Amino acid sequence: MKGFLTLLLCLALLAMWGCVPPAEQEEESRRQDFLAAESRTPEELAILAEKTVILDPGHGFEDPGCEYPNNGIIEKELTLHLTEKIASLLEQHGVSVIYTHMGEGFPGREALDALAAEKGYDLDAYLTALISAFSGREGDAVGETVTAFGTGVNGDGVFDTFERAYYANLQGGDLFLSVHINASGTNSYAVGSDLFICSDTPHRESSEGLMASLEQALKHTFPSRRIGVRSDSWGDAFVVTKYPDMPSLLLEAGFASGEEDAKKLTDPAWQDAFAKAVADGVEMYLLGF
Ligand SMILES: [Zn+2]
Repeated sequence: MKGFLTLLLCLALLAMWGCVPPAEQEEESRRQDFLAAESRTPEELAILAEKTVILDPGHGFEDPGCEYPNNGIIEKELTLHLTEKIASLLEQHGVSVIYTHMGEGFPGREALDALAAEKGYDLDAYLTALISAFSGREGDAVGETVTAFGTGVNGDGVFDTFERAYYANLQGGDLFLSVHINASGTNSYAVGSDLFICSDTPHRESSEGLMASLEQALKHTFPSRRIGVRSDSWGDAFVVTKYPDMPSLLLEAGFASGEEDAKKLTDPAWQDAFAKAVADGVEMYLLGF
């Protein structure tokens, strides 16, 4: 009976696969081959050597992010740790990595202005876009943000998300990735990785491509893990997914509040597997698979 059920399942899967157009089947199997590959080809390495990725360890400085010391997690420390693992894998394949920060010191207004002058970037245009995006939204102190731009917003010693996006634009890159750890209050059952992009940006389509690549790479490495994807015009992930002038994505690696996820997030072997999946997804996108 079990064999018969397996046969039925196989036939059903085969029939479903038969409904996928041949071009998509080919693309899908190329992507699967890429994810299963042990190494990059010389042609792939030549393309990757031309690419620059901006990595943003979520939170930092006076802003710890979520804190679950009982699970061994302080978000700002773990995001930096995971980002370094992702960066090292990308760099091994020749990709240039720029960090928005490494936990100590960030460019103040003077440094940002000097960089802007060098690159011919228009800070006024950026701030004007910010003000118009936030006008009429309750509870967002955009005026304060703009006044304090480049000073560690509102003097609280945090490299603000607006400043991170602006800094990314000054540096220039092929994509922007912000790394975070999720939390769901005291929900110890919360599990999964979540990917967010902004639907209200000129880079929406390319951000969707980046999200699809990361989703597939994470599913390839963690077949039974919940991988959430969301495209939103507003929300927590809004600033760093909307304002970078390049495809942009915010990644929540897992839940610090979740018992099972916290064990994974603090396990070096899991961290390595996670970082590799993310780096593979990023490279798959950069290579145009
Ligand atoms: Zn966060």
